[in-house]
Amino acid sequence: MRLKKLEITGFKSFCEKSGINFPPGISAIVGPNGCGKSNIVDALRWAMGEQSVKQLRGKSMEDIIFAGTNGKPPLNMAEVSVTMANDNGTSPAELRDFTEIMLTRRLYRSGESAYFINKQPCRLKDIHNIFLGSGMGAKSYAVIQQGNIGAITDAGPEERRFFIEEAAGITRYKNRKKETLAKLDSTNQNLLRLMDIIKEVE
Ligand code: ATP
Repeated sequence: MRLKKLEITGFKSFCEKSGINFPPGISAIVGPNGCGKSNIVDALRWAMGEQSVKQLRGKSMEDIIFAGTNGKPPLNMAEVSVTMANDNGTSPAELRDFTEIMLTRRLYRSGESAYFINKQPCRLKDIHNIFLGSGMGAKSYAVIQQGNIGAITDAGPEERRFFIEEAAGITRYKNRKKETLAKLDSTNQNLLRLMDIIKEVE
């Protein structure tokens, strides 16, 4: 999958709808201090499902909604859409037929939030599933923020292993294994309970 386009409305300093196209290759965002470079990266991570307010440099999730400036009142909703070219077969089977995948995340000041894949409502889990093993995603190395290089070189063995596993495309299968083991465990618990009941009845 390749990042193609980012559309931002009401997110941090982006009051009006703004769009950024990413051509193939490496894209770098440059500009004067405080112009909103990191806010673009935050928007990208947020649309990819980032849950950590700290990673988004805020105190609460509401901080990502445009808070108003001298001439403009605060907004009640933030919406970010990220469009990816679906061209290398790393997307989940149910999305293989789409040439583009558009993810949208919306948050209202009331706290209500929603996720969409190609404009269809979905769960956060579905968003995470798209990125598992793709090398992209809120926690991937595809988006390099200020300080990220240092974080990778200083990472401990466990963290470094995560980066390698993600690049090798096995995170998706590791997660599925974890889910399956949890289901097996709960089935075993049910079986034990059932055996107890059978013994009581006999
Ligand atoms: P630097 O190069 O110094 O790191 P930058 O270009 O990365 O700067 P950002 O951190 O992306 O800049 O943007 C900072 C600006 O975003 C500040 O002016 C801040 O007031 C504004 N900002 C952050 N959150 C909001 C919000 N919720 N509403 C309105 N403006 C916001």
